[in-house]
Amino acid sequence: MRTLSPRLNLGKLILALALLSAVIALANTLLASYRVQRDQLVGNTLEANRVYATKLAETTQNFLLAAQQQLAYAATRLGNSDMDPAQAQDEASRLQLQSSSFNSSLVVASDGRVIATSPQSLQLQGEILRSAGSKAALDRREPMISDPYQSATGKLLISISHPVFDRSGQYRGYVSGTLYLRQRSALNTLLGTHYYRDGSYLYVVDRHGRLIYHNNAKEVGTYALNNPAVKEVMRGQRGAQQVLNNHKVAMLAGYAPVAATGWGIVAQRPTEATLQPLSRLMSAVIWNAIPLGVLSLLITWWFARRISLPLWQLARNVQDGEDTGNAISHVNGIRAWYFEVAQLKQAVLYSFSALQDRIGTLNRASRTDPLTGLLNRRGLQQALDALQAQGLPFAILTLDIDRFKSINDSHGHDVGDAAIVHIAEQMRRHSRETDVLCRAGGEEFLVLLPGVGIEAARQTGERLRQAIADEPFAPVGTITVSLGVAHFPSFHTDPEQALRLADKALYLAKEQGRNRVVVYPHAD
Ligand code: GH3
Ligand code: MG
Ligand code: MG
Repeated sequence: MRTLSPRLNLGKLILALALLSAVIALANTLLASYRVQRDQLVGNTLEANRVYATKLAETTQNFLLAAQQQLAYAATRLGNSDMDPAQAQDEASRLQLQSSSFNSSLVVASDGRVIATSPQSLQLQGEILRSAGSKAALDRREPMISDPYQSATGKLLISISHPVFDRSGQYRGYVSGTLYLRQRSALNTLLGTHYYRDGSYLYVVDRHGRLIYHNNAKEVGTYALNNPAVKEVMRGQRGAQQVLNNHKVAMLAGYAPVAATGWGIVAQRPTEATLQPLSRLMSAVIWNAIPLGVLSLLITWWFARRISLPLWQLARNVQDGEDTGNAISHVNGIRAWYFEVAQLKQAVLYSFSALQDRIGTLNRASRTDPLTGLLNRRGLQQALDALQAQGLPFAILTLDIDRFKSINDSHGHDVGDAAIVHIAEQMRRHSRETDVLCRAGGEEFLVLLPGVGIEAARQTGERLRQAIADEPFAPVGTITVSLGVAHFPSFHTDPEQALRLADKALYLAKEQGRNRVVVYPHAD
């Protein structure tokens, strides 16, 4: 019989389903927790950078105000001394050396001539300053913080200045302190002290978007106008957002303005560096999920086998086409441990037993003569085979109704049939359980008497003959039969031959006048 496709079965399907749902569940968990953690990390970093930029903006503002205050004090003293050169040198030195707020300090007369510098090594005394910073200070005659500019000594710097007025209110020039942008200064020391190791960095732009501080000194002096965070902070906004820096690297930037100068401070950290712990977390999650995942798959595999096993056994027994009796006992042995299989088992058993009944009925029908219910020739053959297989000796009676043709002729075929049935009943009545009764054809019968000797068989035959002759059958009246008796294996080792001998004895009984029993070989 054709076998079912062995590649896909219920067990594998369940396992595949479990595997699929485990993978989907894990992927879903990973994705969800990745998103939540990422948003949290990004949010936290943006907020931290915003707070940091705000804090530094305040610190810078305080530093600048303090510097301006120092200059204001010096300006007052210089005004009081009417710009005395010695006093000017004192003030310049004090400003530069006392607080180290400035890289250099200058006292400049109202015509732009330098009166005093510190350090003196600048060698600017007596020079007329024409730098942008100097011009602005002289023009505006008010406290100011300059934009970055190139100094007379060639340095990029900003200058903080305060005008000097004498007691009569006459403008006498200004006193200024400078902060070098590309060298070490109080400002970049202040900004650079808080430096992260994780790729975070900080920069400061002036009100034109020009970098006046950057942890990479080469960037100082360049413009950073493309950066959206710079645009925002130049508008005086504080906040935080994701941006791309000049090198197209994604950054999480926090920013805040320095109110006194219109500068903007931007603190930023690469998004990738921020999210790095996340990939480690994800792989840790996966590794931690593996042992339990494998265990649950093993459990699923075990259950899948247990679930599919009885179904598989049922399927195999149904398709095997083996003997129904065997199949029933195999199916009975299947452990139906859950409802559907129990139902299926019940159904299979039911249909098997129905099949068995049907086969039994057909078997019986094929071995039975329909008119009399006795065995037919095939049934006789099976009985003979069985006796032979058991090695049992047996006697044979052959019986033929006398002058049956005339019964048919006088009373019709149906009465003839009824007479045949009548004889069959007589035979049944006078036989034992173990006797094999058979209608050999027409109005001829055959009886096998297992384990019966020839004399006992003759007596049985005689009793039967007598009984039939004594029991008239309406509407025919008395019916007689003739019998032949033989024994196996008394005269022949072949049972077919023994049957023929019984036939021979019957023929002799007919010849000798009918209504008698003749035993082979005593056929006298
Ligand atoms: P005898 O045996 O005594 O020599 O005579 P007989 O008349 O019985 O002889 P024979 O065996 O020649 O006749 C048998 C007849 O039985 C022939 C046939 O028409 C009839 N017959 C055979 N089978 C059936 C049957 O099933 N039903 C009926 N009604 N008649 C049958
Ligand atoms: Mg006959
Ligand atoms: Mg006859």
